[in-house]
Amino acid sequence: MTGTGPRNISIDELKKGVLTADRTALARAITLVESTRGDDQAAAEELVEALLPETGKSIRIGVTGIPGVGKSTFVEALGLYLAGEGRRVGVLAVDPSSVRTGGSILGDKTRMSELAAHKAAFIRPSPASGQLGGVAAHSREALLLLEAAGHDVILVETVGAGQSETDVASMVDCFLVLQLPGAGDELQGIKKGVLELADIVVVNKAEGENKKRATLAVRDLQAALQIITDSEAAWRPPVLMVSALERTGIAEVWNKVLEFEKTAKNNDLWDKKRAGQNIFWMWAAIEASLSADFKSNKRVKSRLETLNKGVRMGDVSALRAAQLLLADYLKK
Ligand code: GDP
Repeated sequence: MTGTGPRNISIDELKKGVLTADRTALARAITLVESTRGDDQAAAEELVEALLPETGKSIRIGVTGIPGVGKSTFVEALGLYLAGEGRRVGVLAVDPSSVRTGGSILGDKTRMSELAAHKAAFIRPSPASGQLGGVAAHSREALLLLEAAGHDVILVETVGAGQSETDVASMVDCFLVLQLPGAGDELQGIKKGVLELADIVVVNKAEGENKKRATLAVRDLQAALQIITDSEAAWRPPVLMVSALERTGIAEVWNKVLEFEKTAKNNDLWDKKRAGQNIFWMWAAIEASLSADFKSNKRVKSRLETLNKGVRMGDVSALRAAQLLLADYLKK
């Protein structure tokens, strides 16, 4: 039994609900995997494990870019296009700011209202509280639940900020990096290493007066990608232009995703990437679990404050403090 709703519901019922794509059951199941409560976590593990054979069949797409680049507008445009093609679309948001502030940028309900109302789409805003093991670990489990519920494309949106991008790149098959028309953005992308994660680069807001600047951005980005990608690689990231607002260029992006899928599968890269990602998440779970156990250890806790102070003052080296705490932790 789980404590996720007004009425308790068994794992078996949740599993059935997810498999029949019951929206309430799916929402509850995701709440369960996002929960930080110990008993919920055990139940969540059981649920994900039970549904695992039904997962893995979607195309997983990550979307990133700086705030204001048009991620939500783009995800809605792409989602609506795909729904129009008869696909079922799941949307997730990974928003590290929600952990810090308790509020969520991406979780704003007024976003993607047209897609949210579509019966072929299921949108899950990012969770509004901090979670054990990082925001993304639970989003990955939510992604698996969306797959089990029969969504054949999953879009994972994330703010272009540090770790969340790497995490999202580690849970998707194809990573889209959105850029703005005009100078400077492309360099910013290189500096932050975001372009290195990209499978497809998309210059958004390419309409009207912006079109000229967008064309320049495409040229600059192509030149930058030439430098940072291996000329022998089976896939070299292309740069496309869209207007998410006017919903132009969206089909072209989707066709590139399909082309990417074909190339990756033909070169045995698709399954390899997923296998590597599974290992990544296994280690992420191990590290999160060990770290939580360490921090809750009584001996560690009793000494932590003193050592913290010592390290801060420079009386004890960071390494020495770490060794002392670890020794305490490992004491039988
Ligand atoms: P996000 O912060 O990256 O999710 O960006 P949003 O999707 O919220 O978009 C930020 C702003 O850019 C909003 O005012 C959008 O209406 C606008 N916007 C998004 N896509 C386009 C586009 O293709 N063209 C233009 N002109 N504006 C856009």
